[in-house]
Amino acid sequence: MPAKPPSIFDLMNEEETAISEEEERKKRRKELIEPTGVKELFKEGKISINKFTCVGGQCKLCITACPTNALYWGTGEVGIIEDLCVYCGACVVSCMVDDCIKVERIGDDGKTERFSKIGDVIKIGERKNTKKRFDRVKSNAVILRRAPKEPKQKRKKVVANLEPL
Ligand code: SF4
Ligand code: SF4
Repeated sequence: MPAKPPSIFDLMNEEETAISEEEERKKRRKELIEPTGVKELFKEGKISINKFTCVGGQCKLCITACPTNALYWGTGEVGIIEDLCVYCGACVVSCMVDDCIKVERIGDDGKTERFSKIGDVIKIGERKNTKKRFDRVKSNAVILRRAPKEPKQKRKKVVANLEPL
């Protein structure tokens, strides 16, 4: 006999369960991250470490660099506590092996950033700084365009004041 398709109530229940699990996860993360004093700048993300390229025991630089203690030395390899990771990229910057640590994160603007080596992190930083500078210049240009012109009479007065006595 073919399996009965799920009813609308089953689907609604599934959705509700998924939402409450997600809320629970966010709450747990908040409770863990808040005491570290590190701000969460990305709403979502993931991190992975390639245990075959990691030099592990002789290095552990990523563990030292992590501001939230999301990384630890486990049984012969670097372990990750995903709930503590804020996807900052400090571990990627400190890792001496390219593409060993991979981070993917989604910012408030909904854009996804992926990086796995120091060069990627620098490029992302430069792109963001360029955008900030561009936005600043654009908003200054708008202010200048909107600035009211000085009346001619007032300008004459200013010139008169500057004339030598
Ligand atoms: S991205 Fe790396 S350094 Fe940053 S919080 Fe996550 S594990 Fe720690
Ligand atoms: S910094 Fe890179 S190579 Fe060193 S332990 Fe961490 S993941 Fe491994």
